[in-house]
Amino acid sequence: MTGLYIHIPFCASKCGYCDFYSVTDRSGRRAYTDAVLREIRRFAGRGLRADSLYFGGGTPSMLEAELLGEMIAACREIFSLEGEITAEANPDSASFRWLSALRRAGANRISFGAQSSDARELSALGRRHSPEQIGQAVREAREAGFDRISLDVMLGIPYQTPETLRETLVSFAALGVEHISAYLLKIEPGTPFAVNGAERLCPDEDAAAALYLQTVRELAGLGFAQYEISNFARPGGACRHNLKYWRAEEYIGFGPAAHSLLGGRRFYHPRGLAEYLASDGCNLVPDGPGGGPEERLMLGLRLTAGVDPAALNLSERGRARLARQAEIFRKAGLMAEGPRLRLTPRGFLVSNAVICALMEILDGELLQDCNEFEAERDILS
Ligand code: SF4
Repeated sequence: MTGLYIHIPFCASKCGYCDFYSVTDRSGRRAYTDAVLREIRRFAGRGLRADSLYFGGGTPSMLEAELLGEMIAACREIFSLEGEITAEANPDSASFRWLSALRRAGANRISFGAQSSDARELSALGRRHSPEQIGQAVREAREAGFDRISLDVMLGIPYQTPETLRETLVSFAALGVEHISAYLLKIEPGTPFAVNGAERLCPDEDAAAALYLQTVRELAGLGFAQYEISNFARPGGACRHNLKYWRAEEYIGFGPAAHSLLGGRRFYHPRGLAEYLASDGCNLVPDGPGGGPEERLMLGLRLTAGVDPAALNLSERGRARLARQAEIFRKAGLMAEGPRLRLTPRGFLVSNAVICALMEILDGELLQDCNEFEAERDILS
């Protein structure tokens, strides 16, 4: 079963830290929906089935629920879609009417870009909603019939302290949501945050690391088990769609900046709504093979379940080298005990370095390298 991702590239305004692709001119909503519908229909007759759909952005709540509903219906028709259907939404633009219409159209999970319960932090991020609107949005989503709700939290943001973070986590958990994502702020070059030097208002690197470890600890105490570097859920609340990314399973992305992994190949649409519309969604760019052992290791280490080294297809020498390196990381407290390769919360903080070290071992030690994927069906042809 494949996953489906649809990018909704519209926002009411740009947040100072944001590097996601979106535009603030929403006049092309109908034309955009039609282009996505045509792209979906191009997959007709391929026998692909989907068990998840994720509307990300941008801000999906800037698009009429009826238009999102047309896309859901097309996915049902072409991919026999059944299962988890998530829409990201902002607390200020997801009205009760929008939520109810989206629920009626088949969406069953909603993910709010809440970020913080502190008014000063929200304002520094350039968010348009107040702390009160977060609670209202969650209550209205429940009333509209959503029984799976997620809230995003940002860590290491301007003015954040351990006390304001605790207040955010406790108040979000008290809303009864099933899922919380907590992302460390990364200031991307070219964003207003980078240009304006917002870094000076943020906790330094050590303080941000401490906020991350505090989040892991406190969310566990509030009943949210960590299942990925940045994701926490009550029992049964994990996001099934996003799990596909970390398990290197197949997914198809529609719209500008959307990526796909299908038939062992990666490909994507470049950023740019005008280009997407001008090409009628036919501007896919190949991005090489995907889903091989290196990717399974790199992505799987993001999960608390980790990776089974036996599934990496390594030579005997490679297995021994990997075991030796894992032991070094275990002694340093970066990896957990046990037969699987699993990072600890401290390990997650330096996951890039750990993953690089393990990837070097994989390099040259695979019994069968990724060339096998080159022979796979080229989805672009
Ligand atoms: S609402 Fe989300 S996608 Fe839009 S600018 Fe803000 S962070 Fe970026």
